[in-house]
Amino acid sequence: MSAPVMLGMPALPPTSPRGVGNLRGDEKFPVAARHALADTQLRRNLGKATGTIRAKRAQVVSEVPDWEELREAGRQLKVHTMARLPEYLAQFEGAVTARGGVVHWARDAAEANAIVLDLVQAKSVDEVVKVKSMATQEIGLNEALEAGGIAALETDLAELIVQLGHDRPSHILVPAIHRNRAEIREIFLAEMEDVDAGLTDEPAALAGAARQHLRRKFLSAKVGISGANFGVAETGTLSVVESEGNGRMCLTLPETLITIMGIEKLVPRWQDLEVFLQLLPRSSTGERMNPYTSMWTGVTPGDGPQEFHLILLDNGRTAVLADAGGRDALNCIRCSACLNVCPVYERTGGHAYGSVYPGPIGAILSPQLTGIEDNASLPYASSLCGACYDVCPVKIDIPSILVHLRARHTEAHAAAHRVPSAEATAMAAAAWVMGNPTRWTLALRGGRLGRALGRKRGVIGEVPLPVVKEWTDARDFARPPKQTFRDWWATERGRT
Ligand code: SF4
Repeated sequence: MSAPVMLGMPALPPTSPRGVGNLRGDEKFPVAARHALADTQLRRNLGKATGTIRAKRAQVVSEVPDWEELREAGRQLKVHTMARLPEYLAQFEGAVTARGGVVHWARDAAEANAIVLDLVQAKSVDEVVKVKSMATQEIGLNEALEAGGIAALETDLAELIVQLGHDRPSHILVPAIHRNRAEIREIFLAEMEDVDAGLTDEPAALAGAARQHLRRKFLSAKVGISGANFGVAETGTLSVVESEGNGRMCLTLPETLITIMGIEKLVPRWQDLEVFLQLLPRSSTGERMNPYTSMWTGVTPGDGPQEFHLILLDNGRTAVLADAGGRDALNCIRCSACLNVCPVYERTGGHAYGSVYPGPIGAILSPQLTGIEDNASLPYASSLCGACYDVCPVKIDIPSILVHLRARHTEAHAAAHRVPSAEATAMAAAAWVMGNPTRWTLALRGGRLGRALGRKRGVIGEVPLPVVKEWTDARDFARPPKQTFRDWWATERGRT
């Protein structure tokens, strides 16, 4: 279903029907969100799916008596690891190498993609199977492989739906959350070779069709590609958690395994997984434990892939780490609980964010990874209600980071433009008035004039003044009271 063009808003570029194309960084989200809000089917799909996951999460979290202690343990482990990341990375590299793995370092997406392409081409194959991975989406690996003549087949069911639909993921955990069963059936019928023409939209039938489609691919694949949920510095172990078992097929059947892991995914000790493997499934899928938790350490002769390459990806992470106000975004374990509770995400969906990481975590991570000007509207894509902070299993204070990034954006804007914006001028004037008791008292008395504007409705509607207009277009101002608090105080206490 295509969204109608909203009057007064720039149209989305035709090359990017669900995306935000080449709009300016500060325009992207508002424009795309308005288009998404007009898509009633999308909103129905999202409301139903996020509501279901929210309820499941709330139920299984309520069963854990020490949930808050677990969250605190997760937070502290992450903060500790980030504070000593270079040391743990060196330890991790040594442990992986000692167990027969080959470690590569990639400063950015281009380097990571080039390493993977070289490794795959050296195997003389034209197809690889993939485990669902946010890191590979972040670097655009599928597109890079395609440009090199290699087809990358997504094997996670939801990712497969997205790939077959020539679509983009819209949720970290449930990439096809914007699709309903009927839409998925249509995609399968149109795109899967040998699919049963009588396919129904029953979940079991759809899963069966995907299973049949994928099984042949698993058995013939020579190279598997994955991301990683965790890497253990102490042992060199990597871990992928998933619900379907397709990931495990990719991790065990091919002769060569290539894993791309963001450098922030480390935990110091094996024992630390105990905390995260309790936090993650309850927060993400609302399950008590993951159906499939795969772990591997280097190469095991005669068992699983006999060649293992690990690519450690920076791609902006060290810059995030350097910012004390924003670095906690790196603590994320990609559970997606913050997406499912976010009132903004629930109404706009993930495509409106125009970034690989949508929702509240995307709003704080993407602008930091890409540079704030590329995703300048994302820190504003929030009501700052704090629901994301409440559910985050590692207690990332997302609202505070959003405010921090808004400040960074404002400062960057001020530095780049000699003439201050209307908003900055208004704020400077407000600071001048509020910084002096006499000025503030006079301003309050003058504010009573505003009572005349709100006489009819009891609130002040649209005010055609710069900055104020933008505010009052979307919100009403409260009508000033007859008497200010200071006046009341003076009357009651007989002081001036
Ligand atoms: S920010 Fe927290 S709630 Fe959101 S995906 Fe990351 S770990 Fe989960």
